[in-house]
Amino acid sequence: MSRLDSFIRRVSAQRDCLNAAADLIRDVPGPVLEFGLGNGRTYDHLRSLLPERTIFVFERQVAAHPDCIPPAECLLLGDLFETLDTAGTVIGAPAALAHVDIGSGDPGANAELAAFLAPRLHRLMARGGVVVSDQNLGMPRWEPLRPPETVRPGRYFMMRV
Ligand code: SAM
Repeated sequence: MSRLDSFIRRVSAQRDCLNAAADLIRDVPGPVLEFGLGNGRTYDHLRSLLPERTIFVFERQVAAHPDCIPPAECLLLGDLFETLDTAGTVIGAPAALAHVDIGSGDPGANAELAAFLAPRLHRLMARGGVVVSDQNLGMPRWEPLRPPETVRPGRYFMMRV
């Protein structure tokens, strides 16, 4: 598969999982958490899917398209290892949906990040909320959800808290 094909499959999987998750949280109140703003593609998609929800974004360094930069009060700027423990006071309510897209090509670093993130994310989530992630976050108490048929198994992950 070419790198172009791989990129297309990855962003299609993101879109299809986020669309499915937006339906699944229809009856779960609460904000949305976006981990990894990047150039703002998925933030923009979440914004269009869920216009009535506040979206809080975790990002080390903002380098997004100017139209896709969250308002300052919704941006948790800095390394997750420093911002996550106190994020609950900024967010203010249990989250209905989290999208985690912060993995790198380094499996060791990904595992370390997942081990740090998952229990802290659990504390920020509403019961019945949905986590969509680029990696398996290894939380046995979350119920794995089947991504849409269009998503190849193992490419993107969905879990019910
Ligand atoms: N979902 C985004 C989009 O659609 O444009 C792409 C996200 S990009 C793949 C990953 C982002 O996560 C990068 O912008 C990077 O700076 C951020 N990131 C990675 N590790 C982080 C960490 N430990 N703390 C904060 N941000 C982090």
